[in-house]
Amino acid sequence: MKSFHIITFGCQMNEHDSERMSGILQSQGLVPADSVDDAEMVILNTCSIREKAEQKFYSELGRLAHLRGRDGRRITIAVAGCIAQQEGKKLLSRSPTVDLVIGPSDIARLSGMIAQSRGSGRPVVETGGDPEYHQKLVPAARTDGLKAWVSIMYGCDNFCTYCVVPHLRGRERSRPPRDIVDEVRGLADRGYREVTFLGQNVNSYGKGLDSACSFPELLGLVQEVDGMERIRFVTSHPRDLSDGLISAIRDLPKVCESIHLPVQSGSDRVLASMNRRYTSDEYRGKVLRLRDAVPAVSLTTDIIVGFPGEGDEDFAMTLQILQDVQFDTIFAFKYSKRPNTKALELPGHVPEQVKEDRLEQVFSLQKDITFRKNHLHVGSIQEVLVEGESRKGGTLTGRTRGNMAVNFAGSHHLKGSLVKVRIIAAGPNSLSGDLCE
Ligand code: SF4
Repeated sequence: MKSFHIITFGCQMNEHDSERMSGILQSQGLVPADSVDDAEMVILNTCSIREKAEQKFYSELGRLAHLRGRDGRRITIAVAGCIAQQEGKKLLSRSPTVDLVIGPSDIARLSGMIAQSRGSGRPVVETGGDPEYHQKLVPAARTDGLKAWVSIMYGCDNFCTYCVVPHLRGRERSRPPRDIVDEVRGLADRGYREVTFLGQNVNSYGKGLDSACSFPELLGLVQEVDGMERIRFVTSHPRDLSDGLISAIRDLPKVCESIHLPVQSGSDRVLASMNRRYTSDEYRGKVLRLRDAVPAVSLTTDIIVGFPGEGDEDFAMTLQILQDVQFDTIFAFKYSKRPNTKALELPGHVPEQVKEDRLEQVFSLQKDITFRKNHLHVGSIQEVLVEGESRKGGTLTGRTRGNMAVNFAGSHHLKGSLVKVRIIAAGPNSLSGDLCE
């Protein structure tokens, strides 16, 4: 077997896990193939956060099974990620074409599993979870060259009632700070300029470490890494947004003024039922403190509409919190039933059509807010990390510290530099500007 192709579903954590699996395979001499058609091994790195993501995976798996049978073609099929963890051996009976099933915390075992499966001619399943995974330096094959994801912790202790993550990715485990700093230093030496720390709840980083290190302290350590110009992080649980983190965003020049703080609902009744452990006013209070300290902070959030028991009044409170907080961007979803979660058992499941209508109302309101907020940037001068040519071509593109895309004219030699751009126009998803001399 010489070539592989990875199809990734879901979040940045999955994207980064795919980079890790690619790193392992490339260190074994395999080469990445551009498409399934050219690959001898295909990994489906799956997501089960919503029903739709699961359906997408099963349809892709069906397509692969069909390809494998065609012209006697032999493709090794591996299933990784959250569905692999959720279904385990059951995947083999559902789809006998699957050769490997590998859980997110078992990635380091990938080459051993391939060898075992080839030696025995039988499928191999590893979903037990390697307890030492968070302390292992598994190689990652990154392709961006400028911006990198770095996992700082795995798992989650929060048990929100709609979420499968704690059931699938286990309890929180933090990577030792020295490993993270070494990884960031290595990235800076290879020309990377921006790092995004990943974790289900980065704010609670540090639990269970041998020597205490909080998330703000970790940011302080990485601030000292020469060559790494920008630090971002995702995701933050509002309950754990501490004054220490707010101060770190204000005081550490490399930490970008941008935070994703999922509120999920504006109704205290629904928040309690979701087990989010904050009220809408507590959330508003944190936002006030954040904006007092860092007025230019860019704030994004997640919203779930149609959670079981969500009535019209609850939903009106969600629209109200969107109005009150004025997020820069939101990610909104219909509540999706997930196996083994408490929300599944709750009374008052909301009809699909009502969820659709509510989602539309949320998008419509936020569209106006985002449009207005984007226009507030016009006339300002923004620091932009130049990423290269824009997708449409003819201009450069990059991102502000607030994570807004900006297009502007300039020389390709600027790729990788931090430049100043005067914003001259705003669209629904991006800004355009002129490079300052
Ligand atoms: S904080 Fe809640 S929503 Fe986020 S991963 Fe943990 S349990 Fe899931």
